[in-house]
Amino acid sequence: MSREERKLRKHLEEHARRELRKANKHMTKVRAGEWKPPRERMDARWIDDFETSQEADQGVGCGPGGRPTKQKRMALTNGMVVEAGLGFCDVLCNGERVRCRTDGDAATGDQVRFSPERRRVEEILPRRTVLSRSDPHNRRVERVIAANIDVVVNVFSLKNPPLRPGLIDRYLIAIGKSGAEALVCVNKIDLLESAEEFEPLLPYETLGIPVIRCSASTGEGIGELADSLAGKLCVFAGHSGVGKSSLLNALDSGLTLDTAAVSSGNQRGRHTTTSSALYRLPNGAMIIDTPGIREFGLWDVGPADVRRYYSEFEKRACAFGDCSHTHEPDCGVKAAVEEGKIAKARYEGYLRILQTMSD
Ligand code: GDP
Ligand code: ZN
Repeated sequence: MSREERKLRKHLEEHARRELRKANKHMTKVRAGEWKPPRERMDARWIDDFETSQEADQGVGCGPGGRPTKQKRMALTNGMVVEAGLGFCDVLCNGERVRCRTDGDAATGDQVRFSPERRRVEEILPRRTVLSRSDPHNRRVERVIAANIDVVVNVFSLKNPPLRPGLIDRYLIAIGKSGAEALVCVNKIDLLESAEEFEPLLPYETLGIPVIRCSASTGEGIGELADSLAGKLCVFAGHSGVGKSSLLNALDSGLTLDTAAVSSGNQRGRHTTTSSALYRLPNGAMIIDTPGIREFGLWDVGPADVRRYYSEFEKRACAFGDCSHTHEPDCGVKAAVEEGKIAKARYEGYLRILQTMSD
């Protein structure tokens, strides 16, 4: 063996010892605080037959970014992340939830390859879509809320709580960036007294964005909502109190998620766990319920990007190619707003978003 080979071998052995030490440390931790799903989640139809590839196959593990791990060939299994925290995630495979260590930024919805023996995620498979937000404590850090989602349901109410102007638009920008489809769901329509109260929805309907009006209380529109989610991986986004948990309960009578009113006199407290969960509806819709979705700041969207998510601004004749549609002369967008061809509320919302970005 040459000197070089000896050196390399020594290096690899040292690396393997380090890995083993790390893995052992983790295993102890997992055993010490063994995870048990809260009772109501067990009732909540855990996805026990999610289509994960069931056969373990042989392969060399890959770390985040495709780096090959240095260990020998090992049995890897495919699974789906149903809960993700810092440095760990719960992977669902053959109906079992396995808590694994992860060096990468595994998010709920991720398809991963993991080693059941080492309880470690070795590879995050490429994501189809990514819904991110900026970290509330450090705006420069990205936090992936969910991956591979097909639809983001933008839930809000017009009354109790009232609609905050521009809120839907902020969500739509984040959804547009994620690559998932957007669906606007206005809940609590039982509280409305006249048809005029639906006016804030008109711009979205004009743009061809699906808008569903429903009430978790009366059941109106719930069938339509269920139909539009059938067979898709979805996430419900919206402020606290708009009725996301109530909608999930209404969509599936097997669910018994706590809602705000229930919990006020309830010792167990509200459905305020810091973990996320994945539910499957009888029609095959899978819904990620994640606390991170309640409020989210735009990630990696600068002022120049914002206008790209306003489809009604496209193909307007502006004098400047890079017109921001704010102060420039001969602006086609401003003209269209004047002529009533672009909803004033949407344009004003756009200006407000730009304003908050420059603050
Ligand atoms: P979340 O924070 O978005 O999950 O909202 P919750 O599901 O906890 O609901 C917040 C409050 O709104 C609770 O008091 C619910 O009973 C109430 N609520 C939910 N959906 C409806 C609805 O369709 N109509 C009415 N009137 N109240 C509702
Ligand atoms: Zn312009």
